[in-house]
Amino acid sequence: MENKFPGKDITENDLKDKFPLSSSKNKKKIIKISEDITFGDNSVPIIAGPNTLENKDMIFKCCELLEKKKIKMLRGGIYKPLTFPYRSKKYFELGDKGIRILEEVKKNFDILIVSEIMEAEKIPLIKDFVDIFQIGARNMQNFPLITNAAKTMKPILLKRHFGCSIRDLLGAAEYSLVEKNEKIILCERGVSAPHTHKNTSRFLLDLQAIPAIKENSCLPIISDPSHACFWHKWVKPLSLASLAVGSDGLMIETHPDPRNAAVDPLQAINFEEFSKLIDELREVAKVLNKKII
Ligand code: PEP
Ligand code: MN
Repeated sequence: MENKFPGKDITENDLKDKFPLSSSKNKKKIIKISEDITFGDNSVPIIAGPNTLENKDMIFKCCELLEKKKIKMLRGGIYKPLTFPYRSKKYFELGDKGIRILEEVKKNFDILIVSEIMEAEKIPLIKDFVDIFQIGARNMQNFPLITNAAKTMKPILLKRHFGCSIRDLLGAAEYSLVEKNEKIILCERGVSAPHTHKNTSRFLLDLQAIPAIKENSCLPIISDPSHACFWHKWVKPLSLASLAVGSDGLMIETHPDPRNAAVDPLQAINFEEFSKLIDELREVAKVLNKKII
């Protein structure tokens, strides 16, 4: 197979045969989520909130913060791919118990909800309260899950697995596109990199993937610096860098009391840090002729 671009894993043939629907041969997709939220144009939507939804009080506080900062999408995960099977008072996810809280959020706020699904069986339970289905890194190649989510015709946020290439990611996105669900947004969330692993950060944010995906694909790509670095102090510089390299959106973890978060307490930023970061992102966006929404 001819590869006109030595050193790249994506060939001309791939663009035609392996991902004909997601390749850059197609017109750039602008994905409309609601009247005022689009991915893939000059707006840069922010999805923010805690790692996991813990209780109604904390999620309402997050929604109030988002409203104050004019941010329109909440991270509202209730099903979590937690690395270890053990749960405690400090370490848990709500699971089905969180559905009623998602419903309360919908009733009380004009905020869209992004929520992860890990099993196709949960889709009917939560689909009325979720605006974007998140398919997490660990399920990026769970093809039946992608197909089932795609069939709902709801937008999908597909996170890149930390060990998968861009070629693999576009292949996975194709599973939604063949179902005629074109509302698919990609997300870079860090890759495994032996030289950084454990020494400095959990994953390495592959900033370069953002222009690479734009070069090879017609789909929007956003960045999740929180999951990449796993360290609250670096979320700000990596968010700004993601914007600078052309990210079509950002997913940022914020929590009213980050160090006591039920999951991943080290990576969430507090409300004050979040507010300042949004202000700075708005300033940088102006220079880039973009708009943070
Ligand atoms: C998450 O966003 O909550 C998450 C689990 O992320 P990832 O799939 O990227 O690890
Ligand atoms: Mn996580």
